[in-house]
Amino acid sequence: MPTAPSSVERLRSAGLRVTSPRVAVLDVLGEALTAAEHHLPAAAVAERARARLGSLSTQAVYDCLDALVRAGLARAIEPAGLPTLYEARVGDNHHHLVCRGCGATTDVDCAVGAAPCLLPHGAPVGFVVDEAEVTFWGRCAACAAADGAAAAGAPAVPAAADGAAAAGPAPRATPGA
Ligand SMILES: [Zn+2]
Ligand SMILES: [Zn+2]
Repeated sequence: MPTAPSSVERLRSAGLRVTSPRVAVLDVLGEALTAAEHHLPAAAVAERARARLGSLSTQAVYDCLDALVRAGLARAIEPAGLPTLYEARVGDNHHHLVCRGCGATTDVDCAVGAAPCLLPHGAPVGFVVDEAEVTFWGRCAACAAADGAAAAGAPAVPAAADGAAAAGPAPRATPGA
């Protein structure tokens, strides 16, 4: 693959003024994408951008995110009940899986690859649909396994690490409950 354009180049080609906060915010989103984190709340973007620039107000970060989203360089997704998440993966009409248990948000490819990939039944005549933003809600594998273990009455196993203790017993396969 050819090298990806730098944040400065991308801002320029989108017709945005190049400012150091915008470059920092776009860099942060680009790095999250490379690190397969993809989606960051504004607070995390602000923290990382601040680490690069020294100081940057939260409002300035929101302004940058807003400008990037409007220019199509970033995408904002707003799953109900969760903070708005920002990502640098744009232009491919991908959708999201959101876990009701832990809030984990995962990209899934659009089956068609271009908007609108779904058309409603019974849209009013003359309404031109140009996008369908799909959020698939459910439970991730870890949360589903924890649910299954709880439903099966498995004894609570103290979780060893990373604050998962509150989520209940460790995932274990207990088929046929
Ligand atoms: Zn989950
Ligand atoms: Zn995404």
